[in-house]
Amino acid sequence: MKLVYLDNAATTPIYPEVIQEMTSVLTNIYGNPSATHQIGRNAKDKIETSRKNIAKNLGVLAQEIIFTSGATEANNLILNSCIKKLGVKRVITSKIEHHAVLHTLEILQKELQIELLFVSILPNGDINYTELSNLVISEKLTLVSLMQINNEIGTILNLEKVSQICKENNALFHCDTVQSIGKFPFDFSLYAIDFFVGSAHKFHGPKGVGFAYIKKGIVLQAQIFGGEQEKGLRAGTESVHNIAGMDKALEISVLNHLDIKNHIISLKKYLITKLETDFAGTIFIGNTETTTHSIINFILPFHENKTPFLLFQLDLKGIAVSRGSACQSGSVKPSHVLAEIVEENNLKKPNLRVSFSQFNTFTDIDYLIETLKSV
Ligand code: PLP
Repeated sequence: MKLVYLDNAATTPIYPEVIQEMTSVLTNIYGNPSATHQIGRNAKDKIETSRKNIAKNLGVLAQEIIFTSGATEANNLILNSCIKKLGVKRVITSKIEHHAVLHTLEILQKELQIELLFVSILPNGDINYTELSNLVISEKLTLVSLMQINNEIGTILNLEKVSQICKENNALFHCDTVQSIGKFPFDFSLYAIDFFVGSAHKFHGPKGVGFAYIKKGIVLQAQIFGGEQEKGLRAGTESVHNIAGMDKALEISVLNHLDIKNHIISLKKYLITKLETDFAGTIFIGNTETTTHSIINFILPFHENKTPFLLFQLDLKGIAVSRGSACQSGSVKPSHVLAEIVEENNLKKPNLRVSFSQFNTFTDIDYLIETLKSV
């Protein structure tokens, strides 16, 4: 059966060069990085070289990168620590954040009675910057936690604006950059960001590895206790092959980002034209001109009784796509993100989130469109 993978915001296929690099590390660099002998030191060297390369590709310092098991852990580490160690009393976030941030903050609010405020979302999915500028003014130490690219609808945060607002008001700024790292050549030294996170499997690297960026000078506390790995912030033997794989994946992604981006932009435009022609009445979520190239979310002009079965029908035809975040793709309930911005009567209709990678083709789009016609 033909297989079409259009769920790249959930995870991406791994680059062959990354598999090669990881296999080589697994085969040859097997020492424990904390061991003092030569074989252990080789492993430590590999980690530190990867740290330097990753930092260089992001415009930050190697010492500011802490390796973790992924972005969920990195977000938890930062949010927990900001409150428990840095004394943050107020957090401003939005209702369209990933659950790795939202659920963590909700639990922290319950346990530690922090003030949790939500900046409102405009109908196009952008945050209300004017409201944020007002909310952030406070005597209490405040953390702003907003994602850069929304994983369900692809809206892009104005990093410059938000980092500036935070800087002017002495607020800390945490940004969930999972969906943007590897997609753009960032220079994070240009922005006043205190914390951001990455996850290798979103940019053709391995699953189970990511990192937290913690600005130099900020001292956080561990949430996993044990050894002194990662400056004592993340105990446990480092996953050397995963870290090396993440480094390779980022290097390839950054190097080729322009070609990849141009290819994906043409796929996105092609899909929009096809939907407009063949499914008049399709509602695009957000402004497709300004949402990120790799993610598009739309409501099909189908009867709501098709909603529970659409993904299954597409799956039967070999099409992997989702309605929103991977964690909720089995649910018929509208996603928490769409629930914030889509009108009630449209919310019950079937929507799809299509997310591209460089491996997608125009034929993939044709196949999706033809299959949608038959369901
Ligand atoms: N944040 C965002 C925006 C995501 O899209 C994801 C993954 O779906 C995560 C956090 C969690 O990342 P990980 O799979 O590395 O835990």
